[in-house]
Amino acid sequence: MSGVKVLVTGGAGYIGSQVSLLLSEAGHQVLVYDNLSTGNAWAVLNGELVVGDIHDRATFRQAVRAFCPDAVMHFAASIEVGESVKNPLKYYINNTCGFSSVLEVAREEGVKNFIFSSTAAVYGLPEKELISEGDPLAPINPYGASKMMSERVLEDFASADDEFNYVSLRYFNVAGADVEGRLGQLYKNPTHLITRALKTAKGEFDKLEIYGTYYKTPDGTCIRDYIHVTDLAEAHIVALGYLIGGGESIALNCGYGRGYSVKEVVAEVKEVTGVDFTVIDCKPREGDPPRLVADNKKIMETLGWEPSHDTLHEIIKTAWEWELSLEAGAPGVRKNL
Ligand code: UDP
Repeated sequence: MSGVKVLVTGGAGYIGSQVSLLLSEAGHQVLVYDNLSTGNAWAVLNGELVVGDIHDRATFRQAVRAFCPDAVMHFAASIEVGESVKNPLKYYINNTCGFSSVLEVAREEGVKNFIFSSTAAVYGLPEKELISEGDPLAPINPYGASKMMSERVLEDFASADDEFNYVSLRYFNVAGADVEGRLGQLYKNPTHLITRALKTAKGEFDKLEIYGTYYKTPDGTCIRDYIHVTDLAEAHIVALGYLIGGGESIALNCGYGRGYSVKEVVAEVKEVTGVDFTVIDCKPREGDPPRLVADNKKIMETLGWEPSHDTLHEIIKTAWEWELSLEAGAPGVRKNL
């Protein structure tokens, strides 16, 4: 696939910025569209940044019209399970309505290829050890439901329009930082396990809380399939090639097919950082399924995706190096804190 033009909503965020960087390194032209509510302008390392909201149709339309993208990758969304339970409307407004608006404008402006950031949370409480794409979608929290609805919108939209195709990538637990240390997570109030554990090791929090220790799992804590952000970004590059090459609309799991419990993650964080921080058992967080682990056969077969950073150790090590670089005042990072 020779260079194509990709408009990336949410391209200043944790995952979108990593994908944008890899896209431009692969010879594609990138336009980032982001309202900078959780993203950072410094994270747009290559390509142009338009600061705009996905709900602002006029500004979004202008960006699409001026850039004429071959594909849109839609990352801009709200992403916290716990918050979605407390504030569901925010999730339906941003993740379902905002998404629909992006889709409508993009298509009206002639975009035929769409890559959508979905989530393993669409599966709810899976009955199988490894979840396949054909398994029932029955989300147990508003975050998962908001994404499931968007997937359904895409499916119906694509069946009514022969020229339009999409790939929905169902992310399992994305973590880690760019393997060259250029990008990583930087949220004002991080809620995700690995980031919180690393920040606890760094002394930014006095303890790590484990949300629930009586789940029906071997050690009583929730199991997740952690995937390195660079491998996930690579999945977007191959998904783009698939669509540009005429591939049909599809939903694909993005995970490694291997799960770790919260306790196992905490032990690895202690090992990598060398810090024995305080950990306390707490009550479960609402909306958390006990186990989410991907069957990843389909993405490997369909896209030829091959992960190359697929150890918990590398995920945590790169994230730790990123955390330490923030402390050391990595260029362009501290001033945005
Ligand atoms: N978790 C935890 N303590 C924390 C943050 C998360 O015990 O400080 C647990 C959470 O309940 C879930 C797992 O870690 O079982 C992964 O949560 P995360 O927020 O990282 O991702 P999610 O699976 O919710 O997308």
